[in-house]
Amino acid sequence: MSFDVTGSPARIVFGRGARGQTPDILRDLGITRALVLSTEAQKETADAFACTLGKSCLGVFAGAVMHTPVHATEAALEIVREQRVDGLVAFGGGSTIGLSKAIAYRTDLPQVALPTTYAGSEVTNILGQTADGAKTTLKSPRLIPEVVIYDAELTLSLPVGMSVTSGINAMAHAVEGLYARDRNPVSAMIAAEGCRAMIEALPRIAQAPADIAARERAFVGSWLCGTVLGQAGMALHHKLCHVLGGLYDLPHAETHTVILPHATAFNARAVPQLLVPVAEALGAQMPGAGLWDFAQALGAPHSLRDLGMPEDGIDRAADAAVAQPYWNPAPIGRDAIAALIRAAWAGQRPD
Ligand code: NAD
Repeated sequence: MSFDVTGSPARIVFGRGARGQTPDILRDLGITRALVLSTEAQKETADAFACTLGKSCLGVFAGAVMHTPVHATEAALEIVREQRVDGLVAFGGGSTIGLSKAIAYRTDLPQVALPTTYAGSEVTNILGQTADGAKTTLKSPRLIPEVVIYDAELTLSLPVGMSVTSGINAMAHAVEGLYARDRNPVSAMIAAEGCRAMIEALPRIAQAPADIAARERAFVGSWLCGTVLGQAGMALHHKLCHVLGGLYDLPHAETHTVILPHATAFNARAVPQLLVPVAEALGAQMPGAGLWDFAQALGAPHSLRDLGMPEDGIDRAADAAVAQPYWNPAPIGRDAIAALIRAAWAGQRPD
């Protein structure tokens, strides 16, 4: 065994109502001209939150959109320069946090992230951004927010569907972390506990969306699963989601939700022992089938067809997924990948 790990230096502030600590946190970071970032859909809530920050906040930029297009980052950068912004406050899900990271990457401004979904981006050193229809990913320590505030009250408004799919998106980081080539004993422990937290939390949220304790448990899952993504390399699952999302403009969290059972079943044939924690947490014999049943019971989407992918796109997606070699615990053959995508397209339950 050998490994080389860099832990995240981020400060994690966790608790109901913890967003109330933001003015003190900004002061600690020396931020006096903060810009709050959000999506258009969350602008009203972000505006109300920005008002609680007093004079240290300049206002809200509500231009965050899915997949962090560079043109949205450039629009935000103009405001950052014009208004001499000295700190970023990301108030939203992975899209808003992506915008914050994209600005920080170019300016090195300090970031405070208040996640409002369970996707886990707030604790990773990874940024995916799009330009001219192509998505590229980069890694840098500069991308990690200085402070993350997990306030479960901010997720009470997250619809059950998005709660479930963003939670499963986070689980995908932990599942792939379990068999990652550069995993280490700590990342494996965090991944197993992250899966357990999400598997406990999501059914409770689906049943009672106002259950704040379940929402907190899901945030524990986000933190843990995101931490794994920041430490361990990803493989087939993330590659497939990246390719499918890029080719057919499929929604991010939903695509992860549909693909995860299939990619897990595929890799479980090669490394069954490493995926035992997932099966155990699900109370299932097989991790892939168990994940499919779990998502199905929560009413999550289970076919790429329902997400809008055309059937005649399966071959093109398989070609793209194997075009450039990458590491995966099970060997990747073009026909086997086409069969996997076809099964996911049709919504079949994997073995
Ligand atoms: P999102 O941020 O796109 O949010 C989806 C929608 O839900 C948006 O309209 C948003 O305004 C709304 N929303 C978010 N929180 C809400 C709340 N509490 N109440 C009501 N509405 C709310 O979705 P996401 O799944 O969190 O993020 C997806 C993006 O994150 C993708 O671009 C993906 O690439 C990225 N991501 C990056 C990483 C990383 O480590 N770099 C990890 C995971 C996801």
